[in-house]
Amino acid sequence: MSSSKATDFGTALCIITGASKGLGRSLAKEIAGLLKSGSVLLLVARSGDKLQDLQDDLVSSEAGGAGLQIRCVVADLSHKEGVESVVRQAKDISCSDIDHLLLFNNAASLGDVSRFARSFTDMDDVDSYWSFNVSSALCLTAGILGAFPHRIGLRRCIVNISSVCAVKPYASWVLYCSGKAARDMMFRVLAEEEKDLRVLNYAPGPLDTDMLLQARTTTADTKLKDFIAAMYSDGHVLTCEESVSKLIKVLQEDNYPSGAHVDFFDV
Ligand code: NDP
Repeated sequence: MSSSKATDFGTALCIITGASKGLGRSLAKEIAGLLKSGSVLLLVARSGDKLQDLQDDLVSSEAGGAGLQIRCVVADLSHKEGVESVVRQAKDISCSDIDHLLLFNNAASLGDVSRFARSFTDMDDVDSYWSFNVSSALCLTAGILGAFPHRIGLRRCIVNISSVCAVKPYASWVLYCSGKAARDMMFRVLAEEEKDLRVLNYAPGPLDTDMLLQARTTTADTKLKDFIAAMYSDGHVLTCEESVSKLIKVLQEDNYPSGAHVDFFDV
């Protein structure tokens, strides 16, 4: 547990992957207002136009206030060049003024949920899913930690956006469930190894995003598909803003054991 309880996030370098839409975009909008002057917000995704829209939005709404630097990094995290370019651009930021490093490993994909585990005979399909959803999160985190090593006065917090699927199997979601389980364990190991870090696996609940649209329209398992469709039509899906508020509260209270899996519905 950290010694200082923060209600804002200080002068931070805050990196958000998958910031172009969905949860990542809402997170960027919310956290921008909690960063002190001199902070840098690094927004990562493949869609440069959407990142630019977000940057314009943040600037015009003055969400970040004066003194917040916003940088967009257009990168495909399914390739090592994409991960390396994010690390490179983070390294360009002078770390002497930064008292908080915050990395949100948010970007992910659902994968092909239109078929069952027994049909995944092609290793290339599986490797490509794991490359983006698992390997990139580890390599990006390691690269950023290497660029901003432990020093007195620097808080370092790594958030993995997880899912209930990390702990519960869902038929026809073999890639997504196994990827989320692997990510959780990776970050639990990291918390075990690096005691000065704060590491959080946050499961955001069902969100009204493009990922959920894909889930409720293409899931092969009929029971699961109907369940998600009903959850959506009955209005039991959360807005990204609701989930982001909970995440921010968890981070501000700073009471979770490092490496914990914290679900929206548990706090
Ligand atoms: P979206 O599909 O809406 O957004 C995904 C984000 O990831 C986008 O910004 C996308 O940007 C980015 N992304 C996708 N592929 C790549 C890539 N190869 N390289 C870099 N960035 C990429 O997802 P959500 O907002 O719904 O999900 C956010 C997180 O929340 C994920 O980790 C997801 O697993 C988790 N989650 C979501 C739930 C839900 O119900 N939606 C439930 C539980 C967990 P671009 O296309 O521009 O690259």
